[in-house]
Amino acid sequence: MNHAIRVHEHGGPEKLVWEEVPLPDPKPGEVLVRHHAVGLNYIDVYFRTGLYKAPSMPVTIGMEGAGVIEAVGDGVTDLKTGDRVAYAGALGAYAEARCAPADRLVKLPEGIDFTQGASMMLQGMTAQFLVKRTYAIKRGDTVLVHAAAGGVGSIVVQWAKHLGATVIGVVSTPEKAALITGLGADHALLTSENIPARVREITGGAMLPVVYDSVGKDTFVTSLDCLAPLGLMISYGNASGPVTTDLGVLAAKGSLYVTRPTLNTYTAKRADLVATANDLFEVVKSGAVKINVNQTFALKDAAEGHRALESRKTTGSTVFLP
Ligand code: NDP
Repeated sequence: MNHAIRVHEHGGPEKLVWEEVPLPDPKPGEVLVRHHAVGLNYIDVYFRTGLYKAPSMPVTIGMEGAGVIEAVGDGVTDLKTGDRVAYAGALGAYAEARCAPADRLVKLPEGIDFTQGASMMLQGMTAQFLVKRTYAIKRGDTVLVHAAAGGVGSIVVQWAKHLGATVIGVVSTPEKAALITGLGADHALLTSENIPARVREITGGAMLPVVYDSVGKDTFVTSLDCLAPLGLMISYGNASGPVTTDLGVLAAKGSLYVTRPTLNTYTAKRADLVATANDLFEVVKSGAVKINVNQTFALKDAAEGHRALESRKTTGSTVFLP
């Protein structure tokens, strides 16, 4: 018997239905993975509400999991039954077991358990490309990270620090401010403060080369106001809704650059996926970046996880246990 959380119609967390679903044999190029842990990510909310469209309905949402291979389809040569694996970016993860494209999976190294694997593939690989590729942080940079106590945010804070940056984190509560200070943030600002004014004070008027913004609509213009001329706005998420600001504002605020990156693009080639995952595994194994799984829920209670995430009650990563 195989169970999954499926969405039959878009809406709130109550639309997440735990039900029995068929478990097909893996097709050519696929493997069957029995999940030991499944990751919760904000993108799961977008697929539930319909902001992002699934190819068909009903849909088993979820992009990230870790577990053991139980069967291998034709043509799969580098994975075998019994391998410990993890993945991000393959829709259908909220299930006890599922078939997934083998070329999206990586083997979990020794020393990284399933819970860690399921909690860090999506958020951690996102943090990797953000700090190393979208903007390659250099020693001495000062950077600003929104939602700094969140899943991606708390990894970006630690990794940016590790690369030698001065890190300004923005969070909504004093408790979250204490948390990011513990992660190494040099300055913990509250969303209620005048963020550009605080950045001006901290940088002595120089402002920033880059802002990491996953909040979207509510913070877009504030983020632009934190940048130095020709600075880079990395708008990588929409927790408060999609950005609708006209591009003309970029000229007015200093010939700024904006990018809207996504993990899919940065790991589309197998070689990039493997390099990104390996870099993440290394930094975690070194202890320089810790993956804090601060909430776990039974997979059948996924709705509770969604409620917590959307009401800003979670910090760090969240994992579902099948
Ligand atoms: P988080 O753990 O960061 O949770 C979201 C956080 O955003 C909240 O805790 C809250 O922090 C903040 N927030 C601000 N405004 C709102 C709002 N209106 N509603 C809810 N939360 C709000 O989630 P994830 O780490 O899973 O994802 C963070 C963001 O990164 C998401 O937008 C996601 O889509 C994006 N993302 C993008 C990827 C890409 O490839 N581009 C890949 C992975 C994630 P606070 O209370 O401190 O303000």
